[in-house]
This record gives sequence, structure tokens and C-alpha cells, in this order.
Amino acid sequence: MTSSVAVIGAGLIGTTTAWYLAERGFDVTVLDRREGPALETSYANGGLLTPSEADPWNAPGTLGRLLRWLGREDSPLLLRPAALPGMLRWGIDFLRASRPVPHRHSTEAILRLALYSIHALNELRHQLNLDYAALSNGTVKIFRDYRALEQSLELAEALRPLGLESHPLKPSAAAALEPLLSVIADQLAGAIHYPADQSGDAHLFTLEMAKHAATAGVKFRFNTSVQAIHADGAHIGGLITQQDEIHADIYVLAAGSYTPLLVRPLKLRLPIYPVKGYSVTIVPAQGYSLRVPVVDSEQKLVLTPLGDRLRIAGTAEFNGYDITLNTARSGSILRQAMAILPGLAGPVGQGGAISWTGLRPMTCDGPPVLGGTPYGNLFFNTGHGPLGWTLCAGSARIVADAIAGRTPDIDPGAYRFSRFMR
Ligand SMILES: Cc1cc2nc3c(=O)[nH]c(=O)nc-3n(C[C@H](O)[C@H](O)[C@H](O)COP(=O)(O)OP(=O)(O)OC[C@H]3O[C@@H](n4cnc5c(N)ncnc54)[C@H](O)[C@@H]3O)c2cc1C
Repeated sequence: MTSSVAVIGAGLIGTTTAWYLAERGFDVTVLDRREGPALETSYANGGLLTPSEADPWNAPGTLGRLLRWLGREDSPLLLRPAALPGMLRWGIDFLRASRPVPHRHSTEAILRLALYSIHALNELRHQLNLDYAALSNGTVKIFRDYRALEQSLELAEALRPLGLESHPLKPSAAAALEPLLSVIADQLAGAIHYPADQSGDAHLFTLEMAKHAATAGVKFRFNTSVQAIHADGAHIGGLITQQDEIHADIYVLAAGSYTPLLVRPLKLRLPIYPVKGYSVTIVPAQGYSLRVPVVDSEQKLVLTPLGDRLRIAGTAEFNGYDITLNTARSGSILRQAMAILPGLAGPVGQGGAISWTGLRPMTCDGPPVLGGTPYGNLFFNTGHGPLGWTLCAGSARIVADAIAGRTPDIDPGAYRFSRFMR
């Protein structure tokens, strides 16, 4: 008999998981409180698929930067003092994972998953003929600071044996690769080109996947908020929504930043914190378009061409589940983008900028949480933090394989929930 699976969350992660589950013969229902797919964090993210960004954000030295920028509205990393009590335990685990050895292990685990994900996404794109403003021109990471450039070059070299291709560029070579950078070439210490990075619109991708999943038999129940998970011993018995109770053989939690809140009553402590970020989308003047997406990692800023639009995204704010759109923050990323591409001033001045904010579901140590839980029929696919688009296809495939009893293509050990149970 076909087993039934209820997937909670129709973002990038839940929708892609549902498709892979249907492909493996399951009877799948996806539940989401919103009116359609990808209307929360997967809606307007930076659009980058970047194995090159595998190192988690708790690199040694992050605490110092956080404290230096405490309360500064225009800083790339902002910790609101009022948020401190609610993030104490997660914060301690975050700092513990920032020691060099665990940080290095997390970086390698994320890179392995990211490379596998790019491979899985390429397969999906060709198999389903997906259209999501995809671009395979890599990314160029720019540096004004020589020390930051050195550190990134060292990391790139260390990750080369694991499959991360990179090319150091002098400022003039960066401007040759991406001509719009020539205006600021004299301000740059250098750049790095990562040719295997990709980009595309995560919202469009999720809509495409939802369409294909529905064709494969997946049922979507929107406007359905899961309010509680009912457990019967070590087994999940059902989901309580605002309308009814839903029963399935297997349950997958892909509710992004909200997953920890759903499992807290089950006595599962999932160390995921909602790290807020912003994006601004504009339509630049005709002809003024990036060929290669640009990453300014010192400012935590990305500039990504998505068809005829440009997506500017960045900043990290630790402020609990607050999703107020703070114009000081979105204005700040726009100004930083205009410092890189001064030609943007025109369309922005004409009021053509759409601002958005979302919550990155960030684990304390970096890698997402994939696979089984102490409840035999409950699975996680969550905690993808700043890399949910990059890690989506591979994570979905690993979780669908685990549920189907297949051996995953890559070792899933580093992504297990049990790593938090020691
Ligand atoms: C500013 C910004 C820029 C980013 N840039 C990039 C990038 O360039 N590259 C990259 O790889 N990643 C990027 N990310 C990260 C990426 O967007 C996320 O990791 C990813 O969207 C997470 O997907 P998800 O499906 O887990 O969560 P979501 O998209 O949030 O989906 C979770 C779904 O669960 C639903 N839900 C929650 N609770 C319930 C409930 N109780 N009942 C029913 N439904 C529920 C929600 O409605 C939502 O639809 C960025 C994030 C931000 C904020």
C-alpha cells in the first residue's frame, strides 16, 4: 500500500521535497498557512546558488564584529539588545561552533551538500525544463580590504581539493569579467571568480516545482496553519490545523524559521534562530545589467541579475521573529549597491525599488537539519539559514531518500538532528 506523507511548509524546501517524494511513489500532501508557495523566506532572497559561500557565518571573529556594530542601523550585522534574552542558548551554541575545528567541519559539510545540490538542481532543470531566470556564469566576490582578500583566498585554496573551483582576479581582471565593476576597480584590493556558482529566482523555481509536483499527484492545502503536532509515544499521530485534524503515515517538517516552535511541545530542542535579512529588487535601465552576480562579503551584500531585474540582498539582523520592514535597513543596502554600481541611481530615483524582508532559519552550527528524529515517523528538512536556495535540491533528495529507505548519494551524517542531542 502507498504510504502517505504530510509535508509542512511550501517554501523552497518543502515543495522540492514533495516533488522528490511523489517521484519515489508516496502519496503527498503539502500544508502551508499562506495562500500559495514560497511566500515567506523563499520569496525574494538573493537568488544565488553559491557553494563558494559554504563557510558558516560564525567564523572566528564574528562576535567582535557583532559587538562593534551593536545597535547601528546601517551595519551589515545587527544585534538588537532586546533580542539577547531570547537567543542566549542558541548564541552560546553559535559561539561554541565558531571555534576553528568545528567551523572547518561545518564548512566542509555545507560545501559537500552545496555541490551535490547544484548537481541535483541541474538534473531537475533539464528533466523538467524549468524556467526560473537561471544563469550559470558563476559569481565574482569583490574585496576592498587586502586582509579579507587573503583570508578568502586561503579558504578557497583549502576547499579546492573538495571540489570548489576558484580563480583569483586582479581588479582589472575583475572589471574585464564584469565590465560594470570598472568604475570601482581602483577601490578594489582584488576579487575571486567562482565559476561553478549559479543564480536564479527562487520564487519562480518554487512555483515551477509546485506545478510539477501537482502534476505528479501532490495535493497542496494552502491557508492551512498547523497549530500543533499530536504525538502518541514515539510516534506522530496527526496534525491539528485551524480547520481540522490531518493524519498521514509520515510527517516532514519544512517550516523554515518556525520549525523549532512547532516541535518545542514534543520536547525537541531544534537550535534554529530567525536571522532577518532584506532585499530590494529594481529594473535597471536597459543595457545596464550585470553579466556575473557580484558578492561583497565584507558588507554581506549580493547583487544578482534575474532576467531584466536586479536583486540586491543582504544584512543580518538578530531581532527574534520581527518581520517589520525597516526602511533604514533596506535604504542602507541600496546605498551600498549604488556604491558598487553607481549607474543604478536612475531607476531607484524613479521609485522603482521593491523592498522585502525575510527570516533565515539559521542553525547554531551552520549545516541544515535533514532526516529522522526520535519520533519514528517524523522527519526534518529545515535550518538552511543563508543558503536554502543553494542547498534545496540536494537536501530534498537526501530527505526523500531517507524516507524511501534508499541510501543517500552523499553521507548524511553531518546533517542529522542527533548532533544536537549529545
Ligand atoms: C535576505 C535574504 C537573502 C537570501 N539569499 C540567499 C541566496 O542568495 N542564496 C541562498 O541559497 N539562500 C538565500 N537565502 C536563504 C533562503 O532564502 C532560505 O534558506 C530558504 O528560503 C528557506 O526555505 P524554507 O522552505 O526552509 O523556508 P520558507 O520559505 O520560510 O518556507 C517555510 C514555509 O512554512 C510555512 N509555515 C511555517 N509555519 C507553518 C505552520 N505552522 N503551518 C503551516 N505552514 C507553516 C510558511 O508559510 C512558509 O511558506 C536568503 C535569505 C534571506 C532572508
